[in-house]
Amino acid sequence: FKVPEPVNEPVRGYAPGSPERASVKKRLEEMSNQVYEIPLIIGGKEIKTGKFGESVMPHNHKHVLARYHLADASHVEQAIAASQEAWKTWSEMPWHERAGVFLKAAELLAGPWRDTINAATMLGQAKTIQQAEIDAACELIDFLRFNVHYMTRLFEDQPYSPKPTWNRVEHRALEGFIFAVTPFNFTAIGGNLCCAPAMMGNVVLWKPSDTAVYSNYFVMRLLEEAGLPPGVINFIPGPPAEIGAATMARPELAGVHFTGSTGTFQYLWKTVGENIEKYHAYPRVVGETGGKDFVFAHESAEPVALANALVRGAFEYSGQKCSAASRAYVPTNIWPEVKKLLGEYLAEAKTGDVADFSNFTSAVIDKRSFDKSSAYLAHARESSEAEILFGGEADDSVGYFVQPTVIETHNPHYKSMVEEIFGPILTVYPYDPAKLDETLELCDKTSPYALTGAVWAKERGTIVKLTNALKHAAGNFYVNDRPTGSIVGQQPFGGGRASGTNDKAGSMLNLLKWTSVRSIKENF
Ligand code: GLU
Repeated sequence: FKVPEPVNEPVRGYAPGSPERASVKKRLEEMSNQVYEIPLIIGGKEIKTGKFGESVMPHNHKHVLARYHLADASHVEQAIAASQEAWKTWSEMPWHERAGVFLKAAELLAGPWRDTINAATMLGQAKTIQQAEIDAACELIDFLRFNVHYMTRLFEDQPYSPKPTWNRVEHRALEGFIFAVTPFNFTAIGGNLCCAPAMMGNVVLWKPSDTAVYSNYFVMRLLEEAGLPPGVINFIPGPPAEIGAATMARPELAGVHFTGSTGTFQYLWKTVGENIEKYHAYPRVVGETGGKDFVFAHESAEPVALANALVRGAFEYSGQKCSAASRAYVPTNIWPEVKKLLGEYLAEAKTGDVADFSNFTSAVIDKRSFDKSSAYLAHARESSEAEILFGGEADDSVGYFVQPTVIETHNPHYKSMVEEIFGPILTVYPYDPAKLDETLELCDKTSPYALTGAVWAKERGTIVKLTNALKHAAGNFYVNDRPTGSIVGQQPFGGGRASGTNDKAGSMLNLLKWTSVRSIKENF
């Protein structure tokens, strides 16, 4: 069987006056005028527990979008039972039949579901239309199409068979279930953390982030409409500690697929360790966590393009991408020019409601995130080591708004230069170009993370030097570009060191985690 060649879903522009703009605006309106009731989905059935969480608009936090039922440990039990029932047929279904579900989901999302999932991501996670489009529509479609394609390549790759033997490898589903614990910042990641293991024949328990239950629920519905059999993915939002403890202690836990905070990932990993004797098999642990992503400019960097990359890399989606630029090393010869340009660009960049398509950013996700960013702003205001150049205001009276902020420091170890913030704050350390080597070393050693990074230079020898000096500092590395915006099929995504297991989302490396290979030798 051959599946259609994957192509990246074209990004829609939503230009003023375009039919696509009118259509998504209408859907935004409809969805913000109702309060959804979101059930658990276990074994294809809606379960109402009567205990509720609320999904609100981060940019208008009094506005409730949905009330969602909360799972507890007993629902985890039910979900495991349902998943194990589904496993019997799903894991045996020919791979090309399973692929059909995900290819159809991609087409539904590219067509009739696009506005709904984009609007849900805008309203529930405060994404602008452009940021929703590249995530909830394009990236999720790409994950589905490209992973199906990678899966076929994986299955085609068979060992050598000297006559008269026939050697082959068989890709079997993992026995048990995969626990997908998914983040708020990308709707596509929520979908992918479930769908990648599922297409390989596995069954999944899906614990979405509290702040993304709303959009993730629609993704679950989309998959059902695409023909996903009951029980293959079970949707169980609920209190993280309770759901986590109940799930991780079960012998059927076959894998953890995670994106989120470092603390949670370390908790999950430790819990696997504590329970190691209980499991039927060693669970696969795949996780992507934090970052302290850098932009390192050489004195030959082109200031206009660099300033543009800093603004987009640091502030799109209010810096809440794991890949967002949050520290920059800019040589003193070009810093005055880059600073001036940053000021000009940011003067144009408005922050506000997602319904106003001219806004560049909206709110951060919740109160906790708002308080965290605010604390860094307060620290910078007080500190003699930091100067707030642009932005610096935060106001949560209506929504959790934090202005895109640039801080300058002359201490490369200043707080906001080294700690992960996950908000719209970029700290710049201007360095003496005569101290290039020491500054490269600083950049490499400053943070335990290694997710993304970008270098800027002109001459090839310099590019090679910067690339080599920062070899292990980022799993996604960019030359003369911003460190965000990886595209499935083009730049497989993931980081090393404290940033995760680097099993590259949207690649064969990731799919390999969700298969247990049997080698078969047969004599003729
Ligand atoms: N892949 C996204 C990017 O390159 C980031 C994903 C994340 O935040 O986890 O911007």
